[in-house]
Amino acid sequence: MTHVAVDRRQFFGTFAAGAGAALTLAAAGPAAADNHGGGAAAACATMTPDLQKTITPDQAIEMLKEGNARFVAGTTVNCDLMAQVKDTAGGQAPFAVVVGCIDSRVPPELVFDQQIGDIFAARVAGNFVNTDIIGSLEFATAVAGSKAIVILAHSSCGAVKGAVDDVKLGNLTAMLENIQPAIDQTPLTGEKSSKNTDYVEAVATKNAELTVDNLLARSEVIKGLVDSGDVKIVAAKHDVATGKVTFLS
Ligand SMILES: [Zn+2]
Repeated sequence: MTHVAVDRRQFFGTFAAGAGAALTLAAAGPAAADNHGGGAAAACATMTPDLQKTITPDQAIEMLKEGNARFVAGTTVNCDLMAQVKDTAGGQAPFAVVVGCIDSRVPPELVFDQQIGDIFAARVAGNFVNTDIIGSLEFATAVAGSKAIVILAHSSCGAVKGAVDDVKLGNLTAMLENIQPAIDQTPLTGEKSSKNTDYVEAVATKNAELTVDNLLARSEVIKGLVDSGDVKIVAAKHDVATGKVTFLS
């Protein structure tokens, strides 16, 4: 798999001088090393606590950006997932956590080209946070050691459209109220309707940005990790037409 633009070994060699030693073939797992040549073996290296410790928040975000670049370019790595299942059976050390929408077009592991044990993913229509998801994010970072939180919005989001249209349906009604602050804070030009594409996209972007603020305001645990430089939170938006993720902050 020589088409891998930046694998983990190259990444750590470039951005974390001295950390490369942590990424040994032992960490990669013998199966991954045997089944894939060169860079792919490193790209498929299973995340371990030792490897996770060498990754800074900025590097974690960079790894996701590189993964999305592979996804968009059609050069995703082809790892031995069952080898990774065996490697992670005794524990996990994901380097990042993504809060995304349930939308079938935006599976975090696929759009960031990540494998078994690489990232946590919380998914809810409209990619907001509530007590349960914030608790999950506190586990992912404070307990399990992840270095970055990505709030991943996406274009053409049905939940955002539903909120804009003020849809009422069962429990969906209460759920969509989580997106209302973004609607309230997005300037409206034209009609307030899901047919107003520019408005829908602006609300989706605002919703991701407000979710970052909301998370920091509601979690002393995560705010402490951010203040100490141990964790970084960023908003991002996936374009369902191109597969590209744009980081907003
Ligand atoms: Zn959505």
